[in-house]
Amino acid sequence: MGWHVTVDRGRCMGSGICAALAPELFELDGERSRARSPEIPPGETALDAADSCPALAITITDGAETVGPRPD
Ligand code: SF4
Repeated sequence: MGWHVTVDRGRCMGSGICAALAPELFELDGERSRARSPEIPPGETALDAADSCPALAITITDGAETVGPRPD
């Protein structure tokens, strides 16, 4: 089963880091990012993007479990 990704556009500050790290998963829409698709294949790149977001705006879930961002 795939993961689910959301971008909290209220938190996103448009740094573009996620879209640079994982352009297949995120794109800038004006000054905010959005997920290209809410369902994503599990993978390190998605977790890296969530970890790298300075606004903690990206959340990745695997069913009921939050897998990203990873705890420090
Ligand atoms: S890394 Fe975070 S703050 Fe930067 S564009 Fe992506 S979601 Fe927005």
